[in-house]
Amino acid sequence: MERKLASVVVIDDLQPIEGADLIEVATVKGWKLVVKKQEFNIGDPAVYCEIDSFLPEKEVFEFLRRTSFRTMAGIPGFRLKTMRMRGQISQGLLLPISVLNGDAYTLGEDVSEKLGIVKYEPPVPAALAGVAKGNFPSFIPKTDEERVQNLSGIYERLKNTIFYITEKLDGSSATFYHRDGEFGVCSRNLDLMETADNTFWKIAHQLDLPAKLAAVGKNIALQGELIGEGIQSNPYCIKAQTVRFFNVFDIDAYAYLPLDAFREMITQLELEHVPILDTAFMLPDTIDELLLAAEGASALSPAGRPVEREGIVIRSIDRSISFKAISNKFLLNER
Ligand code: ATP
Ligand code: MN
Ligand code: MN
Repeated sequence: MERKLASVVVIDDLQPIEGADLIEVATVKGWKLVVKKQEFNIGDPAVYCEIDSFLPEKEVFEFLRRTSFRTMAGIPGFRLKTMRMRGQISQGLLLPISVLNGDAYTLGEDVSEKLGIVKYEPPVPAALAGVAKGNFPSFIPKTDEERVQNLSGIYERLKNTIFYITEKLDGSSATFYHRDGEFGVCSRNLDLMETADNTFWKIAHQLDLPAKLAAVGKNIALQGELIGEGIQSNPYCIKAQTVRFFNVFDIDAYAYLPLDAFREMITQLELEHVPILDTAFMLPDTIDELLLAAEGASALSPAGRPVEREGIVIRSIDRSISFKAISNKFLLNER
């Protein structure tokens, strides 16, 4: 599902910030953000823009210029990032409901388009962009994870479930499939043509994936994170590139393999999966506590030099529930 970058919310809470007279901290779902005092009341409807929103250069957003001006593919605008103010983490932006100019609205409504807000996407290096053979195949789900901050409505109910935790790696989503005798390689959103300089295809051959997937003997897809040189900032300082897998998908059954079968298949194929940090995890009391648990050193940190991990992915053992908690420490370091 596409992210609702800007949506109509109600303000769940407002609390003072120690030592600050002019600002306070608002809670919206599982999000915390700093707002001007007296601008909002608990229970007020408002428009909430999540981090990664890219807002257009319009008069109403001019107050963002000093902190957030940025261009994306040459277009000027304002990018919302995680910030810390007076020791308080602040994620996103609350706008008074009047920003909708009196138009009718419903709670939860996505108003991104109305406000001209799109997702901020960093530039993609040529070796990763590739040439499209087609759209992402419809017989495999795209990789995606919801943020725990948007699950506050069901968080209580999730406390009965046993989860496994993997490290969320900071790379680029890769899908490799074998279907009716055809081998394919996909980036996050595209089925890629095989070209000489494409990193996804290069890795597919390096890992011998065409032969390995064919040998499985059924229609199957492997999904993982491509990491290494030239991908994001290569925080793990890996030479060249590799893939760490997080999904095996049975195409004909249209189902992911559950944890045990997934591990078995990856091992049998002599491939590597993402770091598995816990296989019997119960959710802590609050979303804030889970966000703290997301912080920590990456299992792929170079020797003697711990790097903050991007976060964790939390899944039920049968894979029916899956979401992410991103480390706020990691987000605060983002460029
Ligand atoms: P957003 O939706 O937050 O704007 P996004 O859709 O680009 O961002 P990410 O924040 O990168 O997604 O989170 C989802 C992605 O995380 C998946 O598409 C996958 O490529 C990647 N990922 C990395 N490590 C894992 C893991 N351990 N388990 C599942 N997915 C992982
Ligand atoms: Mn997403
Ligand atoms: Mn990512």
